[in-house]
Amino acid sequence: MHSRLPLFLEGEFVASTSHRVISVINPATQGLLTEVPCATEDEVNRAVASAKAAFASWKEVPATDRARLLMKYAQLLKEHHDELAEILSQETGKIFADAKGDVWRGIEVVEQACNIPSLLMGETAENVAREIDTYSLIQPLGVCTGITPFNFPAMIPLWMFPLAIACGNTFVLKPSEQDPMTPSRLAELFAEAGFPKGVLQVIHGDREQVDQLLTHPDIRAISFVGSAPVGQHIYRTGTQHLKRVQCMTGAKNHMVVMPDANKNQVINHLVGASVGAAGQRCMAISVAIFVGESRAWLEDLKATLAQVKPGFWNDEDAGFGPLISPQAKARVLRLIAQGKAEGAECLLDGSDFSLPGAEAGNWVGPTLFSKVTPDMTIYTEEIFGPVLLAVEANDLDDALAIINANPFGNGTSIFTASGGAARYFQHHVEVGQVGINVPIPVPLPFFSFTGWKNSFYGDHHAYGKQAVRFYTETKTITARWFDHDAHGAPNMTIQLK
Ligand code: NAD
Repeated sequence: MHSRLPLFLEGEFVASTSHRVISVINPATQGLLTEVPCATEDEVNRAVASAKAAFASWKEVPATDRARLLMKYAQLLKEHHDELAEILSQETGKIFADAKGDVWRGIEVVEQACNIPSLLMGETAENVAREIDTYSLIQPLGVCTGITPFNFPAMIPLWMFPLAIACGNTFVLKPSEQDPMTPSRLAELFAEAGFPKGVLQVIHGDREQVDQLLTHPDIRAISFVGSAPVGQHIYRTGTQHLKRVQCMTGAKNHMVVMPDANKNQVINHLVGASVGAAGQRCMAISVAIFVGESRAWLEDLKATLAQVKPGFWNDEDAGFGPLISPQAKARVLRLIAQGKAEGAECLLDGSDFSLPGAEAGNWVGPTLFSKVTPDMTIYTEEIFGPVLLAVEANDLDDALAIINANPFGNGTSIFTASGGAARYFQHHVEVGQVGINVPIPVPLPFFSFTGWKNSFYGDHHAYGKQAVRFYTETKTITARWFDHDAHGAPNMTIQLK
């Protein structure tokens, strides 16, 4: 491991000349893992210039050849799967099973990018007028950029650059400064797969580097994943500078528990979906809506949640790891305190949890609130910690009204034995990703990641066909050939009237 992470610039891993560095800290111990440089203005400009130069030849590489390189990349990612997951665990604190899932969900997107030739097929209509045909070509945009959050340092970069590059674009990635080691390793494997120099650049840093990319005249498209306030800033600035922008942002995801649901399934899935990965998932369930008599299951839920213990990434008995930073922990503790002060009932309080021998870690234990109302700060703010809120509703319409009034619309789910209730819910709920007896309904990469409302700003969503649309232009050609005038043209057997 480098003592200071390099940039991936102009096809080489190079030391930044920047004097501004950020420490990358193991969240379980506060030990220093490495340092990450904040790229200089000149280095950001060089990254974009190198990507622009590489675009001229990369866009001419046949899509089948681009796909073969991606197959090689997918293969390398699989061979290094556990090694990547271990790096990821070190810098995020995620338990190994979650870290492996993070890497694997990214590999699945690369596999989907290997299908690029068929995804780049246009449309054809013959004889749109007499002897005139119209057809469309799907062509790349140019230099695209991706700005990623801390919580999925393998999966989310892999949502972006493989597909953008498969489409024939070149890419500048700015990963989260909190866990940049995994994306850096992804870039090393990318280089090893044999892609030409300059197709991918990795620029490290924070808001300063992001703001330079947002306004850079040679960047055509910006893909962002992160918190809602930053997403709003990125969307406004990027579109003001006339760029194509997609922002996948924050969330408050509800699970509706109908009284006819299977109680054990509900409890087991609610526990995993709420406190798994320390609740630091944009699709985590943070609110459980108990409909009618299902509210009686709260005691059993509390008992099961209380058995989940945070721990080290390689402790097989640990349910989840620490929060990413002391600041993230302080935020979650502030919100828990505010929940109590505003009158919610704290049935289980993880505020004081500490792991013996690793007291400096950013630990928070499983926390459960009941009697939560939509005006409370714990309900209005995204907590992004292992905290589950329980809300009660009289019937499914009440539950729907609560969800539809929430400004976010990333994910939701319903647990029920009734097909009719499930269908009513899927039709009326104003949320972009819906699970039916599935707690975290993240679509696989042949679909797209379709958050709604304040969870998404833009038109085309991440990965799948929508991302191919996002990373490409459509060129429509209308053509007429005067065959019968041409020298050596075959005799016309059909007489035109
Ligand atoms: P964040 O918004 O703090 O940071 C995301 C990225 O933006 C980082 O690369 C960071 O360096 C950069 N950044 C931070 N502040 C900036 C600023 N003021 N100007 C420009 N750039 C800035 O997010 P995070 O804490 O790393 O990630 C957690 C958030 O991401 C949560 O809100 C979560 O819901 C969201 N998220 C959403 C999805 C989704 O698909 N909807 C997926 C994962 C995470």
